[in-house]
Amino acid sequence: MNRKSFANATLAPWLLGATLLLFIVIAGALFLNLMRLRDSFSWVQHTNDVLLSISGIQQAVLEAETNERGYLLTGIDSYRETYSRKRDDLASRLDNLRSTAADNPEHAARIDELRQLIDMRTAQLGRVIELGPERLREALDILEQARTDRLTERVEASLAGLTQTEQGLLAERMSRHDQESLAAALITACLLILAVASAAIAAFLLEHQRAVSRQQEADQRLQALQAELMRVARLSTMGEMSSALAHELNQPLGAITNYVRGSRRLVDASNHPDKTRIGAALDKAAQQTLRAGEVIQRLREFVGRGETDKTIESLRAIAEDALALASVVTRDCPVDVELAIAPAVDRVLVDKVQLQQVFLNLIRNAFEAMREQPERRLTIDGSAAADGLIEVVVTDSGPGLDPQIADRMFQPFTTTKPEGMGIGLSISQTIIQAHGGSIKAEPAPGGGTLFRFTLPQAEFALSEVQTAAAV
Ligand code: ADP
Repeated sequence: MNRKSFANATLAPWLLGATLLLFIVIAGALFLNLMRLRDSFSWVQHTNDVLLSISGIQQAVLEAETNERGYLLTGIDSYRETYSRKRDDLASRLDNLRSTAADNPEHAARIDELRQLIDMRTAQLGRVIELGPERLREALDILEQARTDRLTERVEASLAGLTQTEQGLLAERMSRHDQESLAAALITACLLILAVASAAIAAFLLEHQRAVSRQQEADQRLQALQAELMRVARLSTMGEMSSALAHELNQPLGAITNYVRGSRRLVDASNHPDKTRIGAALDKAAQQTLRAGEVIQRLREFVGRGETDKTIESLRAIAEDALALASVVTRDCPVDVELAIAPAVDRVLVDKVQLQQVFLNLIRNAFEAMREQPERRLTIDGSAAADGLIEVVVTDSGPGLDPQIADRMFQPFTTTKPEGMGIGLSISQTIIQAHGGSIKAEPAPGGGTLFRFTLPQAEFALSEVQTAAAV
């Protein structure tokens, strides 16, 4: 991670916090604004209702007068009835209008004044209706008086005044409502921008977190590799020391063998009464010295760098050497070993030390797996397979594979052992693949684990090398 992205990553949480805080504040502002918007809308609606109510009163006054005239001129009862309905309607409309203006004393006073005028006017009309066409002369007098009183004009003027006031209010309230709507739109836009910004910063932080975890994983892996390198370096030093030690021990062992043989000859030539028993003991001493020499020779070959080129080797001999090396581990819990490599498949073209390593890894793993088992049995079978290959099967009677790692046990650093490195199988796979074969593990039929690997037969591998050279 470079310095710039590190600085961004440190700044980002603060920025995210500030953005979220701003988001909350603006969301609060939007809430208040929406409440005000709702209020202003209800005021607009209220003013519209009042205007409708005023126009309804205007209409009712007009219809009451029309029906009064109709009755006076024709004497038809339906005019009279309609008049009565309109008069009642007028009263209820006035009540409604009055209740809507209850919180506005000035408005209420104007409505009361209007009510008085309308009451006076309906009283006049009521008297005219009472007189009817039968007493037309008296009725016309009342109407004449009404014209003089100008009641109708005063009612109309009062209604017009109220309408004008309400229209003024409506214009004012609609303008406020428009302003609130604009503010709500602006605040919503701000909120959207902040939401997008917060999402972008959160995504950046998440990605940064992922990058940090990836970096940590890479660091851990690097540390493990470094530790492994140090271990390999230590092993290599130990290998070199063992090689030197083996070389140093070879000399005295050779001398011991010669001395023992010389002693044997001296005893043979003497007349000692126990010369037969001493001779047998000296023979055994010579045999053991030779065996010690063989073990040391194998150790030298194993740890020494040796030839890396492939040579024709005996599969059985390599397996035996590996078993001898691994037997050091099984001294306290012996294992029943069966080595069954058919002579027909014994010759392989391999890097001897590397193949020893594969056998050693598999045998050591098997021995370790069987350590707690009551019955410890290891078999190594070698037989011919298709395509000029040899198949080697190493089977143990251990507890079987741990299902948690069964599908990745050939990956480096996979281990279930407290002290394990988890690289034995990985190295074995690399070696087998480098020899043109493959390796896999599976549960053994009678319990335990079975490792199966293939190698090219010497003749087959050689003929392939020759074909390649001819081409
Ligand atoms: P390690 O050094 O940990 O043994 P290996 O690569 O040799 O590393 O083996 C990896 C893991 O595979 C072991 O820790 C063990 O869990 C499992 N394993 C290997 N061989 C056997 C076996 N014969 N039986 C059961 N488990 C095995």
